[in-house]
Amino acid sequence: MLRGSCNCRGVTFTVRGEVRSVSSCHCGQCRKQSGHVWASAVAEQPDIEIAGDVRWYAASPIAQRGFCPTCGAFLFWKHKDETSMSFALGALDGPTGLKLQKHIFVADKGDYYEIADDVPQREN
Ligand SMILES: [Zn+2]
Repeated sequence: MLRGSCNCRGVTFTVRGEVRSVSSCHCGQCRKQSGHVWASAVAEQPDIEIAGDVRWYAASPIAQRGFCPTCGAFLFWKHKDETSMSFALGALDGPTGLKLQKHIFVADKGDYYEIADDVPQREN
């Protein structure tokens, strides 16, 4: 089981069951929301238990971004038509046992950094 929280710990969450799609997203929305790239993994929504008040922001018509209204930590992303949800890897506490599997939306990455590892990259 994975455990995580926002920076002020007003929002905490646990993840049970299968975790997949461990990725680092370089899209413009994730960079604006997080301040750089957003690292996340995906689980089914019933496997993610959230405690505390999450505010949801629809950055686009197809998806919502969940953040802590007190400290602003960007914790969750969910597509309106999917039963899964992404959660922030940076919010996890303790060893995760996870390993980055892909960089996504690298076509949108900023020009101020290079991706300097051997993890596979996807343009979108
Ligand atoms: Zn918080």
